Amino acid sequence: PIVLGIESSCDETGAGLVRDGQLLGHVVASSMDEHARFGGVVPEIAARAHVHAVRPVIQRALDDAGLRLADIGAVAVTTGPGLAGALQVGLAGAKGIAYALGVPLYGVHHLAGHVAANTLEHGPLPDPCMVLIVSGGHTSLLLVRDLARDPIVHLGDTLDDAAGECFDKVARVFGLPYPGGPAIDRAARTGDPRAVAFPRPLTGSPDHAYDFSFSGLKTAAARWAEAHAGRELPVGDGAASLQEAVADVLTRKAVAACAEHGVGTLVVVGGVAANSRVRALAEERCLAAGIELRVPPLKLCTDNGAMIAAVGDLLVRAGAEPAPLDLSIDPSAPLEYATLHPAASLA
Ligand code: ATP
Ligand code: MG
Ligand code: FE
Repeated sequence: PIVLGIESSCDETGAGLVRDGQLLGHVVASSMDEHARFGGVVPEIAARAHVHAVRPVIQRALDDAGLRLADIGAVAVTTGPGLAGALQVGLAGAKGIAYALGVPLYGVHHLAGHVAANTLEHGPLPDPCMVLIVSGGHTSLLLVRDLARDPIVHLGDTLDDAAGECFDKVARVFGLPYPGGPAIDRAARTGDPRAVAFPRPLTGSPDHAYDFSFSGLKTAAARWAEAHAGRELPVGDGAASLQEAVADVLTRKAVAACAEHGVGTLVVVGGVAANSRVRALAEERCLAAGIELRVPPLKLCTDNGAMIAAVGDLLVRAGAEPAPLDLSIDPSAPLEYATLHPAASLA
């Protein structure tokens, strides 16, 4: 069947259509610009934007794929984690379509979506694979087997801020525009990554071999900026050095985890996987360690509906039990399985 995926966990309204691992079409609308003057996502503004966007985005995704509503054979929707009001809008839309068409509904974990995004470009994920999730809200190292069937093993997580959050917050201190991650990436091109010796938090700490910490790095960057008070801040150098520290820690730990667990494939997903230095360093270190690296194409790194459809497609093909129509959101859902409804047992 053709699976419609709907994503509305944060500030992107996404709809995507996937059949048998193939992306047929997808569209993303973002309310990012409306949040820019607040320096961060405002939940109520995000929820209202989803209300306006959800129907047109689904229609445009269908148009993009050359399909009609009646062609949809299953609906997958992000039920968490995310902003409650934002999640509700996507779930209501998904339920309406599933009910009207009489097709199965699946609740999907947002992060499983980020993982599955990779399959749309590079085909099925090998079992097992190592997944480094680096986004605005999460930084985790996961051991993934069959995404549709098996529990996901957390090897490590951030103890404080996520990597994307670190970029976003430091960008503010550096006077760079929102969202900060892409702005840091651009500014870094003009700077020297060795200009500032920022710390490499939790490296060489056996108790936290695969955990991360970015709040100290954020503070170090803020201190460095403060030390320039009254003088012009060499933003390029600060951005390049910060980016180098983040990329170094992320890739070092991910490659070490692959080696320790005998895993031959590293998958890097989430918004920060779009970072040019993270991509380049991951490539360099995986090549040196004989590990296959898989990174989704840029447009599928940040939030979108195609990645949710990709999970739905895997669930359908694995024979997973659909969700009941009283499926609810779970804003702080832990990542245990790709699907998020209680009746997740497999047929
Ligand atoms: P989550 O998926 O954890 O719920 P999210 O959906 O907000 O969080 P994503 O949309 O996956 O996160 O990614 C957004 C994050 O990615 C932001 O923090 C943004 O700054 C960061 N980001 C995007 N592009 C880049 C880049 N080129 N370099 C660094 N960071 C980037
Ligand atoms: Mg976003
Ligand atoms: Fe996300």
